[in-house]
Amino acid sequence: MNESKQAHDRKQESAIEQMNSKAKTKKFMFKFSVVAESSETRARTGVIETASGRIETPVFMPVGTLGTVKALCPEELVACGAQIILANTYHLYLRPGVGVIDLYSGLHRFMNWKGPILTDSGGFQVFSLAGMSKITEIGYSFRSHIDGSSHLLTPEDTVLIQKSLGSDIMMCLDQCIAYPAERKAAENALELTTRWAERCKEAHRQNEIMDQALFGIVQGGMYKDLRERSAKSLARLDLHGYAVGGLSVGEPKEMMYEMADHTLPLLPEHKPRYVMGVGSPADLVTMVGYGADMFDCVIPTRNARNGQLFTSIGTININNARFKHDTGPADPACGCYTCSNYSRGYLHHLYRCRELLSYRLNTIHNISFYMRLMQDMREAIKEDRFNAFQRDFYNRQAEFAIL
Ligand SMILES: [Zn+2]
Repeated sequence: MNESKQAHDRKQESAIEQMNSKAKTKKFMFKFSVVAESSETRARTGVIETASGRIETPVFMPVGTLGTVKALCPEELVACGAQIILANTYHLYLRPGVGVIDLYSGLHRFMNWKGPILTDSGGFQVFSLAGMSKITEIGYSFRSHIDGSSHLLTPEDTVLIQKSLGSDIMMCLDQCIAYPAERKAAENALELTTRWAERCKEAHRQNEIMDQALFGIVQGGMYKDLRERSAKSLARLDLHGYAVGGLSVGEPKEMMYEMADHTLPLLPEHKPRYVMGVGSPADLVTMVGYGADMFDCVIPTRNARNGQLFTSIGTININNARFKHDTGPADPACGCYTCSNYSRGYLHHLYRCRELLSYRLNTIHNISFYMRLMQDMREAIKEDRFNAFQRDFYNRQAEFAIL
């Protein structure tokens, strides 16, 4: 390392320290505490306190992309056991637009959801949806996937948009890369993500945001040493929580597990650890064992609309002709509204006719299944029997597989 690089690093370090000490002067509406830890795995259970209420972890966040968890109203989400939902900044920024949401002082009142909300930064959707997106040091320039209009999304913009959305947890803008990626591309993306996180933190401080936490996102592709570098540089920023990004982007499942297993312990212990865009019930059970506290994924809601139901004895496809004469509930072990009142035969009929109620009843069941799975894991961790819980879960799911 040459002298000028060392001087630059020192200067940067002192700027970050200054930023951190300024941010600590006011009372902040966000707290995370670990309540119990598993003695055999890295699983832990805890509580996140936000301006909109408490969240018990590990937690799964149903995805409400456009300001609605598809097919459900907020009361139904609460009845399913949802504690926090996720909304997408990119989509809400384009439609209906911040100006409309400002009329309601934020997303909570606009969509009538009173619990905590996490918003992503918009970066992932620009990466996956927008046409002609171009990335520079300034931010993303992209064209809307709706009307082709041109937009620029900078780290500062994303903080301000999420401020208007009024989410309880906001995410730093990051650069997600596709799989597979060359090492140099992964390295550049992680360095840019770190510089953008510094800018997000500064924008968060300058705007005196006191009731919205700011999480950083670890990148680094499928390179372990780059993941380490990313985690280390973001940890210095003392953000309120940390996410593992860039997973579930097309890599083999074993690789996704390996990267999550490697990255999660690198993140600060006393902050929530969030694995973005994951996953199936088995993914959640595995990754809670690695020490993950938060998840989001479209699987329970999207699959419900495609007729796939998760049950305590494996996954079933309600479209299957074998369910036509089945008078039993979707999952005999489930006490949700759908399983308490309707049969597999009726759900099969609704799905075959593409009735609107099919989407709603299937989604109620899948969300309830996910919420109960997380609750069962929290209890198993508290009673220090998480390892046995994992073994039992894998055995039951493997025995019945997809019907
Ligand atoms: Zn059910």
